[in-house]
Amino acid sequence: MGDELAEFRDAALRFLEDNALRRVADTQSGWGVGSDAIGLLDSHTDRAEEAAALERSREWRRRVFQHGFGWVGGPLALGGGGRSPQLDEEYRRLEAEFDVPDQQPFATGTHLVAPALMAHGSPELQAKYLPGIFTGELVVCQLLSEPEAGSDLAGLKTKAVRDGDDWIVTGQKVWSSQAHLSQVGQLLVRTDVDVPKHQGITMFVLDMDAPGVTVVPLRQMTGETHFNEVFLDEVRIPDANRVGEPGSGWRAVMATLMSERAAVGSGANNSAVDPVARLIEMARHLDRAHDPIVRQRLAERHTNAELRRFLIGRHEATMLAGKAPGAEGSILKLLFGEQATQCAELAAELLGLSVLADSGEWGTYAWGRWITGAPMMRIAGGTDEIQRNTLAERLLGLPREPS
Ligand SMILES: Cc1cc2nc3c(=O)[nH]c(=O)nc-3n(C[C@H](O)[C@H](O)[C@H](O)COP(=O)(O)OP(=O)(O)OC[C@H]3O[C@@H](n4cnc5c(N)ncnc54)[C@H](O)[C@@H]3O)c2cc1C
Repeated sequence: MGDELAEFRDAALRFLEDNALRRVADTQSGWGVGSDAIGLLDSHTDRAEEAAALERSREWRRRVFQHGFGWVGGPLALGGGGRSPQLDEEYRRLEAEFDVPDQQPFATGTHLVAPALMAHGSPELQAKYLPGIFTGELVVCQLLSEPEAGSDLAGLKTKAVRDGDDWIVTGQKVWSSQAHLSQVGQLLVRTDVDVPKHQGITMFVLDMDAPGVTVVPLRQMTGETHFNEVFLDEVRIPDANRVGEPGSGWRAVMATLMSERAAVGSGANNSAVDPVARLIEMARHLDRAHDPIVRQRLAERHTNAELRRFLIGRHEATMLAGKAPGAEGSILKLLFGEQATQCAELAAELLGLSVLADSGEWGTYAWGRWITGAPMMRIAGGTDEIQRNTLAERLLGLPREPS
């Protein structure tokens, strides 16, 4: 792998150098330089701006794919590079050093849904959706949570009934991130009510433009409309869009959930701004960098970021070894929830009133987006309490929670 990796890295860097500019780290640009935007989700408050940004992201993804870096580890027959999936991770790492259009809209498809399709989808289903997921033509959302099924996802009630070659689906999903931008949804439904709840669930790929699908945006306190309610009213889904056997949906989604925890915990969904570097600059600017309490708290944030860096490395190594993602996803998620919250508290304390009223001063009011967004990091991808239950049972071997 050594030579192949070095040769791949050279080729990828040549492509990136020719097509994009290197990112300037916050610490290099300093206080007051460039944009002061800082948030936990790169979504927009303006729909036209959001659509234009998605087009730029898609155009970049297309170019990456055309140059052979979009799906290096994918099967040749589906347009992939037929090489080691490790090279995809290497490309992702290299690309993160460059200032390219936001690639997060595609991450649900490439990192969460594609692995489930590869492992459990029929060859026809893989051929129908996987190429589009990797070229960026298809944005994917996850239609899992329901008004009465979040932590207890297996309690979901959206129902699918077989009708010839189709299934007829009725129910409601909620908190569906980027459903308003998506062409495709990863849908979990109940296909059997007469078996224990985990065994009656089936996964489908849903075309979001199917008749009977209604997407209603939900606005968060950050001002963004990142997620949606999705109503399904007698929606017909071809049986060919079923992922795995009827009743196997729980097993199929588990791998997705563990990867999602690790992805949320890695901070991969978040803006390119390094919050710790930004806080250090802020402390210097406000002449608080010598305050021992501020220094201690900055050191704790730096330590958290470093710990997560090592855990991400461990998670990537597990995935590359072809093993199922383990409990490190839950640890990462807990650590990132803590990081988001503590960075928010420190920013609010350093900035005082200037975070509440927009005085136009660089790097002050902008923190409002981070502060109002931080609570969601303790919920998305499974709440803190659920991560602790997972760790207690799977890692520490404590008795299972009564179900
Ligand atoms: C930013 C964001 C994006 C999201 N994106 C998506 C998406 O794209 N698709 C999707 O399907 N869902 C999405 N979700 C939904 C998310 O997965 C759920 O919100 C989450 O699983 C919690 O479910 P719930 O909101 O129903 O809370 P509940 O499950 O009702 O929990 C309420 C409270 O009870 C606690 N609790 C519940 N059960 C236990 C227990 N057994 N032990 C201890 N405490 C418990 C919880 O920790 C929580 O504090 C998103 C959520 C957020 C915040």
